[in-house]
Amino acid sequence: MKFKKSEKLYKKGLKNLVGAVNSPVRAFSSVGGNPLFIKKAKGSKIYDVDGNEYVDLVVSYGPMILGHRHKKVEKAAKKALKNGYSFGASTEAEIKLAKIVCDAFPEMDKVRFVNSGTEAVLSGIRLARAFTGKDKIIKFSGCYHGHQDALLVAAGSGLATLSLPGSKGVPEGAVKNTLIAEYNNLESVEKHFENDDNIAGVIIEPIGGNMGVVIPQNNFLKDLKELANKNGAVLIADEVMTGFRSTFGGAQEKLGVIADITCLGKVIGGGFPVGAYGARNEIMENVAPIGGMYQAGTLSGNPIAMAGGISTLTELKKQNPYDKFEEIGNIIEIILLETAKKYNVDLVVNRFGSMMNPFFTESKVTNFEEAQTSDTEKFGVFFWEMIKNGVFLPPSQFEAWFLNSAICDKDIKVIANAVDKAMLAVSKI
Ligand SMILES: *Cc1c(COP(=O)(O)O)cnc(C)c1O
Repeated sequence: MKFKKSEKLYKKGLKNLVGAVNSPVRAFSSVGGNPLFIKKAKGSKIYDVDGNEYVDLVVSYGPMILGHRHKKVEKAAKKALKNGYSFGASTEAEIKLAKIVCDAFPEMDKVRFVNSGTEAVLSGIRLARAFTGKDKIIKFSGCYHGHQDALLVAAGSGLATLSLPGSKGVPEGAVKNTLIAEYNNLESVEKHFENDDNIAGVIIEPIGGNMGVVIPQNNFLKDLKELANKNGAVLIADEVMTGFRSTFGGAQEKLGVIADITCLGKVIGGGFPVGAYGARNEIMENVAPIGGMYQAGTLSGNPIAMAGGISTLTELKKQNPYDKFEEIGNIIEIILLETAKKYNVDLVVNRFGSMMNPFFTESKVTNFEEAQTSDTEKFGVFFWEMIKNGVFLPPSQFEAWFLNSAICDKDIKVIANAVDKAMLAVSKI
């Protein structure tokens, strides 16, 4: 397999782009080598500029849940394009997507569309503060909620991969209202509530996805919601990754927990820039123009993006691929575990439906500290063997792999073969 053209573009890209990437998760810092440059994608496959074909388990970090370039999505986007790209005024498409979203999430009477997950969460946080009249937010170490200042502490994958403690450029003042707790540890949250009566909300990824996949144990989420509400705070579910992915109604539906405020992104736009936050009327009516919480956006509710979202979610609902995801996810999980056993490699696989990833460790992984016991050197070797054998993975131990509904039996064979080669390589270091 050759990567010559990618290497050339990487060198060229370094001149006017920082690290030749527009998001640090796309850099290959933690696995070594140069980032691949992509030319095109279709269905479950992605192709780099050197013409190499890969089974795509990144799918743009989640959004392409139907696979790439689904016929209906492409048709809808093209149709919207012909009417104009942006109007700075309302369109019917916004109302349509809002209904699909509010129907899927029973706690949402109203929703506001924005352009990214980061924007959805920073607005959701502002809303929690506006609604409660309090200032502080509890977040969990290892959870990532976008790159807003206030939550850029103990924030998982991108930062973990680069071993940065937080981020430069974030003033202390910006994080002074952020309290850190440990995932799956209710006591660590209780302590904050005991010491502080100025807590507006608790924000969580209902399935951790940015420290690798971490699943809430026992009744953690239900208990968390109760604890927050008992103390006059709201529970904010950051379902940017899990919304429409864990199941159509997100991780909340799957786990039977209902948050007060929900933030969405990724799948909701089907590859176009869409984010959203929503809640029951009592909370959402704090947002301008009804209420006094200001939040705005020149391109928010963009007609092409709305068309992408409507067509993706409509098709997703029709396909209802969640049982298929469970089945295929389980097959890949077994492939990973049995191959690791065959080559005597210590491996833990965490999976929730169509989100999964292996950790090169012996210990179970239920929080960020345990995730960090994974041997990232082994992951680097594993990653490159997977690439060389035709499977595109996120270049980080701490990112989830995502399934899409276009995956077929042949793809699973490619994955099984690649895993065999990769585990063998790992067993030799
Ligand atoms: C991806 C992600 C975000 C940020 O979304 P962007 O669209 O990248 O700004 C926020 N929260 C979670 C849980 C995410 O996975």
